[in-house]
Amino acid sequence: MNHVDELFGRAVFNDDVMQNMLPKDTYKALKKTIDEGRRLDPGIAGAVAHAMKEWAIANGVTHYTHWFQPMTGITAEKHDAFLTPMPGGRVIQSFSGSELVRGEADGSSFPSGGLRSTFEARGYTAWDPTSYAFIKDGTLCIPTAFCSYGGEALDKKTPLLRSMEALSKQAVRILRLLGRDARRVLTTVGPEQEYFLVDREMFHRRMDLVFTGRTLFGAKPPKGQELEDHYYGAIKPRVQAFMSDLNDELWKLGILAKTEHNEVAPGQHEMAPIYAVSNVSADHNQLTMETMKKVAERHGLVCLLHEKPFAGVNGSGKHNNWSLSTDTGYNLLEPGDSPYDSAQFLLFLTAVIHAVDEYQELLRVSVASAGNDHRLGANEAPPAIMSIFLGDELTAILQAIESGTAYQGHSPDEMAIGVHVLPKFPRDNTDRNRTSPFAFTGNKFEFRSLGASASISDCNVVLNTIVAEALRLFADELEQAEDFKAALHDLIVREIKAHKRIIFNGNGYAASWAKEAEARGLSNLRDTVDALPTMIADRNVDVFVRHRVFSVSEIRSRYEIYLEAYAKVINIEAETALTMASREILPAVMRYTGEVAAQAAAIKGYSPALNPAPQEKLLTRLTDAASRLSDDLDALHEAVTHADASADALTQARYQRDRVLRAMNRVRADADELETLVERKAWPFPTYSELLFEA
Ligand code: ADP
Ligand code: MG
Repeated sequence: MNHVDELFGRAVFNDDVMQNMLPKDTYKALKKTIDEGRRLDPGIAGAVAHAMKEWAIANGVTHYTHWFQPMTGITAEKHDAFLTPMPGGRVIQSFSGSELVRGEADGSSFPSGGLRSTFEARGYTAWDPTSYAFIKDGTLCIPTAFCSYGGEALDKKTPLLRSMEALSKQAVRILRLLGRDARRVLTTVGPEQEYFLVDREMFHRRMDLVFTGRTLFGAKPPKGQELEDHYYGAIKPRVQAFMSDLNDELWKLGILAKTEHNEVAPGQHEMAPIYAVSNVSADHNQLTMETMKKVAERHGLVCLLHEKPFAGVNGSGKHNNWSLSTDTGYNLLEPGDSPYDSAQFLLFLTAVIHAVDEYQELLRVSVASAGNDHRLGANEAPPAIMSIFLGDELTAILQAIESGTAYQGHSPDEMAIGVHVLPKFPRDNTDRNRTSPFAFTGNKFEFRSLGASASISDCNVVLNTIVAEALRLFADELEQAEDFKAALHDLIVREIKAHKRIIFNGNGYAASWAKEAEARGLSNLRDTVDALPTMIADRNVDVFVRHRVFSVSEIRSRYEIYLEAYAKVINIEAETALTMASREILPAVMRYTGEVAAQAAAIKGYSPALNPAPQEKLLTRLTDAASRLSDDLDALHEAVTHADASADALTQARYQRDRVLRAMNRVRADADELETLVERKAWPFPTYSELLFEA
């Protein structure tokens, strides 16, 4: 066996293992549950649990945990041993069906946005049998959803599963109309993950990296990424060792880690897995992020997943490649080459265009966070304006359909949908302009606005739900049609007309695009605090409620949680900046200033004829900048202490953005200027040059 075969899925209770270890009938029933995405039959839970336990114990495992994804965006686990006490002081190792299927979790320390009152602090976790159990750090992990006793979702998995269900239901209606028999439609995701690696020893000397995951100070190094010599460049040995170790660990967990390369910025890298069904992909991405951090430590490195660890250097995102396919594996965004395929492709494509245009705000919200605010619209990541890139060819085809004109030798008649084959169009491989937030890349869409540290659930919940809504409207209309082909054609023409404003193939970084987008009436929500309130606008709430993805109270609770998270992040950053500036930077500057002053005095004392001009010039600049820093620190301190903890969440978030973040930026500007004046040896922590180029 080769290395990959030997490792792949070794730590996973996957289909092979199930088939080997379960009684035939149990296996069949479980497989049906998984394939049809249904609830587990309680009658087989016991047998499945027993097999899982036997397999886990054979692999040296003593504990199990229900592994879940609370609204903090990361994962949580509570370990229990497989122990049951027996009479006579003995114990046996057991694991029951009910322990597998349902667990209790004291959720009081996870955010609930008021969904759980304190007298009912408990929630429960329920196995998601469509995502395999696995072994991590000697513990059997069971992927679960986390809900309150009232059934309200307290996590990121539950709404994702609900949104997949919603999309499947509507897509199946459409396929039925097209004469295709599909029982389920699945959404698929391949998230490309960017990250930075920095030296661990240097990391620990920077309080900002330790507490906030990003640098709050740091002057630009003499060489940044201007030369772009790093992208796809040779991988350094320590990083190479990290990557190969990471691959092994991911393969063991059954994660299809495939591509790895250096990214644009020095110290930045990317890992892309082969795509999987959305909920599995979301679980895998969480495991990937966790594994990256763990493996980095082994190599004397720290993995930074923050969206913007270094100012002035490219930030990190996550490209969410998204498509939908039938349960038999047929990709519904594949243009295909029969008239039938063409009609199907155009209908699903149109649904996505409709959805993205109608619900731009929700997509924007789904990628909003304090960290991602540093990227979006900052000329390195897509702008905060949502738009779709289709490429010139496909756009021209849609135009021809819309206007009933010829396209590349095809007469208008031949362009009628559902009758003829779509003209062949080349995949737009020229799309290396990364400025579009939402690009069609041949047979899938790539949503590029997501931040590197985010759970991929939020944006996929939105995508699935809004596309489900578009398909619902289409199905409602087409199911009533007398002449299906004509109705289909009319619908597509009408939809292209109505939503073509969202299509933009140009440069999303250009200032002219913001103007044009405004003229087109597209929304431009510049930051998290501006974006979040749109979440609770009636039409946005309605779409979630209609498809049973969120209840009104679930949306409200999430809205509160996101606002609170934003305010908390800025507050922690401000406290950290205050501490570093007043206890590390300012003292270092004063000490150094003293040294320079002593030199000046010594020179003058040596001979009154000598003029210590360089020292005096430097002293003026040092003392000027230091006094600005000192004043701006006072202002930051004032801003932090005057935050009103009793105000509503939106007011608090706005205050943090408008007062605290701004005051923090001024402190940073002063400190960064001082960094360029102070001797390297006297600076209290590693600089950008060291962090980025010496790891
Ligand atoms: P690149 O973006 O570098 O050109 P690819 O187009 O090959 O690379 O794929 C990028 C990502 O998209 C990979 O993670 C891949 O698995 C994923 N992907 C490919 N096809 C699909 C699909 N049908 N659904 C979801 N993700 C997909
Ligand atoms: Mg890509």
